[in-house]
Amino acid sequence: MARYLGPVCKLCRREGEKLFLKGERCFTPKCAFEHRGYAPGQHGRTKQGRSERESDYARQLRAKQKARRIYGILERQFRRYFSVALRKRGLTGLNLLQTLEMRMDNVIYRMGLADNRAEARQLVTHGHFVVNGRRTDVPSMLLKPGDVLSVREGSRKHTYFKELPEIAAEKQCAAWLERDLKQLSGRVLRIPERGEIDGNLNEQLIVEYYSR
Ligand code: SF4
Repeated sequence: MARYLGPVCKLCRREGEKLFLKGERCFTPKCAFEHRGYAPGQHGRTKQGRSERESDYARQLRAKQKARRIYGILERQFRRYFSVALRKRGLTGLNLLQTLEMRMDNVIYRMGLADNRAEARQLVTHGHFVVNGRRTDVPSMLLKPGDVLSVREGSRKHTYFKELPEIAAEKQCAAWLERDLKQLSGRVLRIPERGEIDGNLNEQLIVEYYSR
């Protein structure tokens, strides 16, 4: 499955804010944004890489790009999620964010079982997780309330998973999920509400972008 393979800190600099794509490192002085908080490229330092008065289109584009980068999704798939959100009842923007949150890699990250979404995605593609007892290696799989996710029996002997309960205990589990660190498993309790989806996202601008 295609994904962005370039330097991720550059994405934060491009968006002009910290997107927390590297987990723990983002909270340390090693964070690239702390000492190079200007946009990448030749003109990034002088003009912050963008005009002082952004057009509506530029704001919509940036809002969409930011969400895409936070969840680590390429344009085509992101647009597909938008089409799904559009067909659902209710607010399209909220539907979109809720769909993104229900991705399996995001759920693992929100449970605190991985340091960031990229790591969660890798754990899934390497086949370390089962959903409702069935092995799956598709990070984009959309989970539903009631789904049970756990570490595959054969993977539990790996050092990462042996150390995971202690490491994950330091991290929060989202309120719409529950986890059992002893069993290395978790369950989706419900779909998250808007207030439970962080990341400073503006879904209205994303809807406007795709409605042009
Ligand atoms: Fe962004 Fe994290 Fe890199 Fe800082 S360390 S620039 S927050 S990805």
